[in-house]
Amino acid sequence: MNKAATDVLIVGGGPAGMSAAVAASGSEGVGVTVVDDNPRLGGQIWRAELGNFKSPEAQELITLLDQQKISIVNNASVFAQDGGSLLAETPSEKIRIEYKKLILATGARERFLPFSGWTLPNVFGAAGLQALVKGGLDVKDKRIVVAGTGPLLLVVAEYLISKGARVVAVCEQTSNKKLDRFALGLWRTPSKIIQGVSLRGKLRGIPYYRNSWVTAAHAGSELRSVTISRFGTTADVECDMLACGFHLVPNIEFAQLLGCNVVDGFVGVDDYQQTSAPDVYCAGEPTGIGGVEAAVVEGKIAGFAATGQIKQADSLFRSRKKTTAFAKALDQAFELRDELKTLAASSTMVCRCEDVQYGKLTSYDDFRMAKLQTRCGMGACQGRICGSAVEFLFGWKDRSVRPPIFPVKMENL
Ligand SMILES: Cc1cc2nc3c(=O)[nH]c(=O)nc-3n(C[C@H](O)[C@H](O)[C@H](O)COP(=O)(O)OP(=O)(O)OC[C@H]3O[C@@H](n4cnc5c(N)ncnc54)[C@H](O)[C@@H]3O)c2cc1C
Repeated sequence: MNKAATDVLIVGGGPAGMSAAVAASGSEGVGVTVVDDNPRLGGQIWRAELGNFKSPEAQELITLLDQQKISIVNNASVFAQDGGSLLAETPSEKIRIEYKKLILATGARERFLPFSGWTLPNVFGAAGLQALVKGGLDVKDKRIVVAGTGPLLLVVAEYLISKGARVVAVCEQTSNKKLDRFALGLWRTPSKIIQGVSLRGKLRGIPYYRNSWVTAAHAGSELRSVTISRFGTTADVECDMLACGFHLVPNIEFAQLLGCNVVDGFVGVDDYQQTSAPDVYCAGEPTGIGGVEAAVVEGKIAGFAATGQIKQADSLFRSRKKTTAFAKALDQAFELRDELKTLAASSTMVCRCEDVQYGKLTSYDDFRMAKLQTRCGMGACQGRICGSAVEFLFGWKDRSVRPPIFPVKMENL
């Protein structure tokens, strides 16, 4: 086992973790280490830019890296805590890193909801398909329906078009009223208006259906079509691929393992991004789904606060107020509608790891009993996919997190 020690340990190398690292390393003589489970830093949004970062925060980090002020451990999944150390697994070894202050910047993942045909080949998560295309999947001339909810749908649709795909329709489940209210509230964040207008411009000519969602996907050997519901009527739309995601779910499992308080599904933090656990800070998507600006400002505050640079942290409170308001507006605008609870048939798979169908779950009152009797949520992903689905479908909450939070090799347990 490889052992290391650092003053500030940051879990997650996305915009929040990178910003936290830059801020913390500004404190003289403080050792900063970032651990991330991907081969590259950058998180969900910047990862593909490696070597050519466009954002100033990312560029600043790279400069500091060149000056060897920050240690980076890539390809390492943090899976447990042991006293004042974290344990991580890389493809070749186990690492123990001792820390004085810990900053959690573990990001978010897509939310999936079950409907008939959602496990068919060529049905992807929306951001999942984007990630595959960034990794080299060819979508040239493919007819793709992008569906679900949240601003990410437009980002994904635009990206797929830029790679030669034919986006047939974008189906947004939320209502006109909620979307209009959201758009009106954007005056507080002009950068979002510019981004939104630019995206809509690039998507000109692509049908953007509000009040619309996929009720079923149909296939022979390949995906053939999807049924979409729109204003109470349904229609079949031919396509080769479906990219479907319902906004994002925060990665809070590690914070839960450390005993941090969770408030309304997010890690609770004070003004300095400090959690209820001593010396543990949290920034970015685990504290609220607010986009890259929120991740950056929260990361900076956490990095400054963890290293005693309180004035610098205080100076960012106003910026964070705006990003927190934006996160709340996102939550309200893209709240899931009740009709989405009715899409799964009795035979629809809910837990894909353990093959548990919807009909097998309806007789239970809570997730614990359902787990014990059906193994729902107990497979390789540890409920990261079905957990948020059953929370929405049945109102079940799962607070029982145990190490390892990711599957690890037997020898590392
Ligand atoms: C799949 C996906 C795609 C997205 N695409 C876009 C996009 O194209 N455009 C856009 O504007 N926004 C996008 N977003 C939203 C965007 O991610 C956020 O706005 C912002 O990047 C959040 O930054 P963050 O630092 O909080 O989290 P992230 O960028 O998610 O970074 C968190 C990092 O922590 C790592 N990590 C988590 N747990 C551990 C652990 N236990 N051990 C080690 N490492 C760990 C993750 O792998 C990740 O690299 C996407 C979100 C998702 C989930």
